Amino acid sequence: MNRDLPAEAAVRAALGTVIDPELRRPLDELGMLDAVTIDGGTVRVKVLLTIAGCPLRDSITADTEAALSRVDGVERVEVELGVMDQAQRDALKAQLKGAGGRRGIPFNEPSSLTRVYAVASGKGGVGKSSVTVNLAAAMAAQGLRVGIVDADVYGFSVPALMGITQQPTRVDELILPPVAHGVKVISIGMFVEGNQPISWRGPMLHRALEQFLTDVYFGDLDVLFLDLPPGTGDIAISVAQLLPSSELLVVTTPQSAAADVAERAGAMAAQTGQRVAGVIENMSWLELPDGGKLELFGAGGGSTVAARLSATLDAAIPLLGSIPLDVSLREGGDAGTPLVLGRGDSRARDELLGIAAALARRPRGLEGLKLPVSIR
Ligand code: ADP
Repeated sequence: MNRDLPAEAAVRAALGTVIDPELRRPLDELGMLDAVTIDGGTVRVKVLLTIAGCPLRDSITADTEAALSRVDGVERVEVELGVMDQAQRDALKAQLKGAGGRRGIPFNEPSSLTRVYAVASGKGGVGKSSVTVNLAAAMAAQGLRVGIVDADVYGFSVPALMGITQQPTRVDELILPPVAHGVKVISIGMFVEGNQPISWRGPMLHRALEQFLTDVYFGDLDVLFLDLPPGTGDIAISVAQLLPSSELLVVTTPQSAAADVAERAGAMAAQTGQRVAGVIENMSWLELPDGGKLELFGAGGGSTVAARLSATLDAAIPLLGSIPLDVSLREGGDAGTPLVLGRGDSRARDELLGIAAALARRPRGLEGLKLPVSIR
């Protein structure tokens, strides 16, 4: 009748574009839209949050208002927030867990197409976490669905490197990971008060990791990165047991001492039956103002580790790239914005983007699937 009034179909279509920031799916699909009324130029909508005090209530409200205010004829948007009741939450959880109310680790299901990379290093401080967040952010920027499990239990640093201060939301036993730069991130650091140290023994770490992999809702991922603690400890073994089809990425510096320990971390694959997807050399050189290269930590560590692992594992293990020292990589980490997302000339960024592209191209062959093993 009045062509200037908002059409219901247009309002519905606009609401269909609003996604839950953690679940990354439309509110509508998740049963989070309650009443929608159109009264002249005013649209009123009630959004049901999964839990009271949902940390993302403001962004959900703003996104809903923004989407609706773009619809022709809408003059005013009123968003009311409510909270799901237990039956609605149960329905949501059932929907997220998929048919059959899946329990267990979704990445081990035969139908899973997620490539799982466990990022390992011989020792700390070689840039393993920096490499992990940059590869993850680069792949997410390419449109892949990416998650990170920060399993570096004693030295967790992924939340800071990704600029995450938010806690995960819990919907009963389901944990929704915060999303930063398009990447879903869960870290043991999100479950400890302040900067408390974690002094857990192997079995507790194993259970914590298992819980991360079962109870955290990652949804369908193309790639999952696990940032392992340095060395060949309990967590690395737990990862091999819990995610037998995960592949190792070994990060080393060019220094021969670092390469020796990195080789040990990679050679674990011989015992666990995991594959090694490749070696990444970090801190390879420092570019001097005159364009020269200063090889601060020596040279050749990455190619040495790749060659020795190829011999030990009887497989062609490539050196995926060599990343130079770059102040902006460290600054990006301190600021919570991975270097790959910035602009300007940076050889380190180019290398990281090249490695991310190479990993994104690797198919996840079903022949790589193995049954869980147990190591004693
Ligand atoms: P790890 O996870 O192996 O302990 P981090 O990723 O935490 O290592 O890196 C250790 C430190 O080195 C961090 O301060 C990080 O910003 C810095 N860093 C890592 N790689 C580089 C690089 N290529 N250039 C400059 N600084 C780097």
